[in-house]
Amino acid sequence: MPGFRSRILDVVHDAYPETFEGLVPSKQIGESVFSGPAPHPNEVLNLFIQQKFTSALPMAYYMAAQRGLDSLMDRRLPPSARLSPEILQVAIRGLLALREMELKAIHRLILGSKGSRPCSRPNCPSRTTTGPRVSEAHQKVVDRIADSAHSGTKVLQVLSLREVCGGEYVGFCENCVEGWETGHVDVRKNAWGMLSDVFGLKG
Ligand SMILES: [Zn+2]
Repeated sequence: MPGFRSRILDVVHDAYPETFEGLVPSKQIGESVFSGPAPHPNEVLNLFIQQKFTSALPMAYYMAAQRGLDSLMDRRLPPSARLSPEILQVAIRGLLALREMELKAIHRLILGSKGSRPCSRPNCPSRTTTGPRVSEAHQKVVDRIADSAHSGTKVLQVLSLREVCGGEYVGFCENCVEGWETGHVDVRKNAWGMLSDVFGLKG
């Protein structure tokens, strides 16, 4: 049994990393790592809390919360995947904090602060054209994130600007894309740094 437990802990450790560096996009993260049909993330969260897998808890809370409120509060789930009022409260509070951070950060990344464009290239469409088409394109990116965050959050996911734009870069130049890529890593890092705190796991 001790050998079995330590093997489980190794798997858990990889899929619910303790550090931002452990969050490798190509690696399997969260409940998909378990063999057989993937358990509901609420069930994993309950199990980790019972088993006191403390180091895996920030990520387990995130995996449950990222699906949004309906998933956290789903009444059709089996009892093992239903969250107690205390755990639910913590998870919802954390989700709301992450969503707020995500929306503000994406807004800043795309629209710049105080209406200034974040891009410095003179030939960038965001500078040369001030027409509604460009600002519409920028607004669309912000709206996409806001929509996807409506029921949850994507704040730890690697997101390319192309994906967020839906395949076309209207209103952006290559420099904008680079700016997004570096900026978005920071957004993910900051979100990661907040996890323990927003899910009440500090101290
Ligand atoms: Zn640009």
